Amino acid sequence: MKIVALAGGVGGAKLADGLAQLLLPENLTIIVNTGDDFEHLGLYISPDLDTVCYTLGGLANTDTGWGRREETFHVLENLQKLGGPDWFRLGDRDLATHIERTRRIQEGQPLNQITRAFCRAWGIDYSILPMSDQSVRTMVETTEDGELAFQEYFVHRKCEPKVKGFHFAGIENAQPAPGVLEALEQADAVVICPSNPWVSIDPILAVAGLWSVLAAKPVVAVSPIIGGQAIKGPAAKMCIELGILPSALAVAHHYGKILSGFVLDRVDTNLAQNITIPTWITDTLMKNKDDRRRLAQGVLNLIEIL
Ligand code: GDP
Repeated sequence: MKIVALAGGVGGAKLADGLAQLLLPENLTIIVNTGDDFEHLGLYISPDLDTVCYTLGGLANTDTGWGRREETFHVLENLQKLGGPDWFRLGDRDLATHIERTRRIQEGQPLNQITRAFCRAWGIDYSILPMSDQSVRTMVETTEDGELAFQEYFVHRKCEPKVKGFHFAGIENAQPAPGVLEALEQADAVVICPSNPWVSIDPILAVAGLWSVLAAKPVVAVSPIIGGQAIKGPAAKMCIELGILPSALAVAHHYGKILSGFVLDRVDTNLAQNITIPTWITDTLMKNKDDRRRLAQGVLNLIEIL
């Protein structure tokens, strides 16, 4: 079975890792959000791509949920002393990724090619693709502070400003990265990982041509909202500010017609009666590698019965 997974950062990376434990590299492609990408300290940073790569490469820091394991912060500490910006935590090992990515971008290499080279260097056999090589920037529209670039909102302002909407700057010029449409066309099914629907998955779905290819495929999503709460990040807070009751049901409604199956947590069992497509109810919190594989297996089982 050939699967394409759509992923943002942490939640997406964990399920992608579960799928990778079950599928051969030729049967799994992971398409990753690049709407969170930004330039900082002159470096090109792709937080979601790096989280997915670090996770699949066994390099991720599972305690923090971001960055690399066995990380040190000597550069950041010294930057701090000199009065440099320290709101975005960049570790020493992680910095090497951004420095080399930036060098290659300045040389004219496209992001998908750079990502492929990095995956090879990290021993990752799976195909991890940026949604697009062109720049797309998620902009958060807030009630009091106007429009904020995503990392400004997410990290610098700690998701405090009240959200009233989003838009994806540059999306009209973004083409799917090489391999994205081909992987989707060849896929037997698409898995929408438990990532933030508004800011991690919507940018991917907004890339030209993706929606129509997806609409012709079985698509299964795993809810990132469990018992009305996000495990991490602002998904539930955003929901409330957008005037939506945060729940797995809201996620299912958000994806709407594109979904053929939905996976929700045991604590949300009562919501399943309001969902008209096939559902699978299970423990969806992935605390370790076994949880990731078990959830991924359930997703594949649901796809088989669709
Ligand atoms: P970010 O870019 O790092 O914020 O990552 P994502 O968009 O991929 O993930 C954020 C979402 O993942 C949040 O809404 C979390 O609730 C969800 N999430 C994180 N870990 C888990 C998990 O183990 N299970 C489920 N179901 N959702 C998770």
